[in-house]
Amino acid sequence: MRFADRMGRVGPSAIRDLLRHGADPELISFGGGYPDPALFPAGELHGVYAELLSGDPAALQYCPSDGLPELREHVAARMRRDGMDCTAGDVLIIQGAQQGLDLAGKLMLNPGDTVVTENPTFLGALIAFNPFEPAYAPVRTDEDGMDMADLERVLSRSPRAKLLYTVPDFQNPTGITMSTPRRRRLIELANEHDLLVLEDTPYRELRYDGDSLPTLKSLDTEGRVVHLGSFSKILAPGMRLGWAVADPEVLDRLALLKLAADTQCSTLNMAAAARYLDRHDIDAHITAARAGYRAKRDLILEVLQKTFPDTVAFTTPRGGLFTWLTFPAGFDTAEFMRDVAVPRARVAYVPGATFFPTTPEHNHARFNFSGMSDDDIVAGITRLSTYLNW
Ligand code: PMP
Repeated sequence: MRFADRMGRVGPSAIRDLLRHGADPELISFGGGYPDPALFPAGELHGVYAELLSGDPAALQYCPSDGLPELREHVAARMRRDGMDCTAGDVLIIQGAQQGLDLAGKLMLNPGDTVVTENPTFLGALIAFNPFEPAYAPVRTDEDGMDMADLERVLSRSPRAKLLYTVPDFQNPTGITMSTPRRRRLIELANEHDLLVLEDTPYRELRYDGDSLPTLKSLDTEGRVVHLGSFSKILAPGMRLGWAVADPEVLDRLALLKLAADTQCSTLNMAAAARYLDRHDIDAHITAARAGYRAKRDLILEVLQKTFPDTVAFTTPRGGLFTWLTFPAGFDTAEFMRDVAVPRARVAYVPGATFFPTTPEHNHARFNFSGMSDDDIVAGITRLSTYLNW
């Protein structure tokens, strides 16, 4: 078949390969990125859906493509509370933050344009941008997020840089958070270099300690930031609901692209989310989810500290769902998983190489702690550690 050139950049992902291991009941996988299903407010959502389906059938009808007005209002109120200057008209409801990545790529990228990212970065963003055939300019990242001196250097060498993608809060895959001074500097550099900034924040509300830092959108001085949020980690990912907040010049175009892509999000799901927010205290729900995840984070870090050799470093995420492990130079986490971790320790994780947009580093791994039982966390890390006896 004479497929489009862009398909040359579309291939199966490491994540898909990983899911093949899902069938082995003995295998303990730290590879997922799933929230804990025990934390979904299933009972409340059952009530809300039942109500919507038993009365006026409006929730089964088409609705405006930029989203159900009452849900846009709810989101705008939450964004204002988080320090952003935002009304319902500044909000586009999308199918999870993932759709925002696709739409932003479509909006901004010609083949060969440069996307600036953290190094490493979220694999799903690379998958979303790849069909637009961009080049990538990864920026060095440390425990405070993107290194601004390196960003300056990268931008000075990337005349076609147009889009800067970042996950500033509890990044996937590293769990790292960008410091406030760096957030401010990032905005200055975006202004200087005429960039659109894509701020992806699906984990923002899953903070386990410390104070919330200002969003890039709240620091935006020239309408350059598209802020993406998601209900996936605070309500339920199966509802496929997220949002984009942007200035009208950008938001109106994203809305036209959304109309072309899928007409609108599910009216029923948007109505359910809006009614859930009317009737129930989502903040109390998030507080409970945070407590559950915080305990799991503390547990995995404690077991790693106790059982792994000192030569394996790991991040201490202050929120989110992941810690990022760095093994000694020369250690290949993909090879180790194939030859030892899966067949002998019966443990899986995500080898880190796929998160690097240009030059893979092979000695890292992403470990998820949210989707598993305490027993599995302890057994999986302990089992793996017995094979790291150097
Ligand atoms: N961005 C990041 C950084 C993510 O980790 C994820 C999901 N794991 C997404 C976006 C997409 O999430 P959703 O589409 O479910 O909102």
